[in-house]
Amino acid sequence: MKVVLTPRGAARVLARHPWVWQSDVRTLPDEPGIYPIYGPRGPLGWALVNPRSLISVRMFHFGPADDPMAALWRNLERALEFRQAAYATEPAAGLRLVYAEADLLPGLAVDSYARHLVVQAHAAAWEPLLGELTLRLEAALEPAGILAKHDAPVREREGLERYVRTLAGRVPERVEVREGAVRYRVALARGQKTGAFLDQRDNRLLLEDYVRGRGFRRGLDVFAYEGLFALHLAPHLEAVDVVDSSAAALALARENAELNGAANLNFTEANAFDLLRAKERAGERYDVIVLDPPAFAARKADRERALAAYKEVNLRALKLLAPGGLLATASCSHHVPEADFYAMLASAAADAHRVVRVRERRGQGWDHPTLLTVPETHYLKFALLEVLT
Ligand code: SAH
Repeated sequence: MKVVLTPRGAARVLARHPWVWQSDVRTLPDEPGIYPIYGPRGPLGWALVNPRSLISVRMFHFGPADDPMAALWRNLERALEFRQAAYATEPAAGLRLVYAEADLLPGLAVDSYARHLVVQAHAAAWEPLLGELTLRLEAALEPAGILAKHDAPVREREGLERYVRTLAGRVPERVEVREGAVRYRVALARGQKTGAFLDQRDNRLLLEDYVRGRGFRRGLDVFAYEGLFALHLAPHLEAVDVVDSSAAALALARENAELNGAANLNFTEANAFDLLRAKERAGERYDVIVLDPPAFAARKADRERALAAYKEVNLRALKLLAPGGLLATASCSHHVPEADFYAMLASAAADAHRVVRVRERRGQGWDHPTLLTVPETHYLKFALLEVLT
């Protein structure tokens, strides 16, 4: 059975976007699986197909393939290839091994936490391939264990069951991970995403480099989750205020502080918007502030409202910073393009009457690469800003 696209769907694939919407597909099979994809003029390649998903076609191979399964597994080999050195030399690190579309393995994420692998396969066609995926990951990486963390709500949109199951080896409830000098515990089955926000790892390490030896005194980590930015700041500051609206997140942050012997963190459970406003009113001053909010724009339609929310927290943070202070600020919304993010920051700086210099313009860590033709793969914007006056 072949899957035939409309001219619009075919044009998208020719422009090397791997996703084709249901409305751009002419004929769909009844069952999810791996199928050859055709345009009005002939074959285009191979895809993971799910007739029940809005994104019905996810290309993993462009052009002809004698053996499409071999092509799929070759993509896995290539994904592991450029990460293998880090996996080998940093056994205690957190590392993304497979980043879905950007590795031409659509819907598949594999993260390593101190060599315990967490798999999230959110495309239906992966389900019958999990056994082989497990064998291949074991052969290539010899991990301590592999967990399928298939609990995300997106699975329901794919018509998939939600479950968490050990695929191989031993997967303890918690694993200790190292990130530079920081240690943290990851609750593999229960944490956010695959357990932690590995996409910000390189930015956390970078911020620590900027702060080291600067003689800064006070830090503020807002939207802190398990406190990782704060833990990188703690050794270099007198005190760091750690803020999150989730008590569960703060409990993790407290445990991590203990693990690192960081006694200079203060924890506050609060809504960031209220807390920043109150701090501004009280005339507080910080030398370094981190803003790492959740995706405010879940849909394209939310973009304007999300930008207003991003502006509000950034404006207040800029007002709270002492001259010479640093703001590390991020947006992980797919639907907020980088240009809009920087325009929002400029407008916040103008309204705060601060001269702000951009020291770093970054995105996700090196193990989350992006595809030029797939803007969705570049979701994380991260700016390191310095308030001059
Ligand atoms: N900086 C973290 C990841 C942050 S995830 C890291 O590097 O690992 C975003 C966090 O924002 C979540 O922990 C969530 O509980 C918190 N959050 C969401 N809305 C919030 C709000 N309005 N006020 C404060 N925290 C909020």
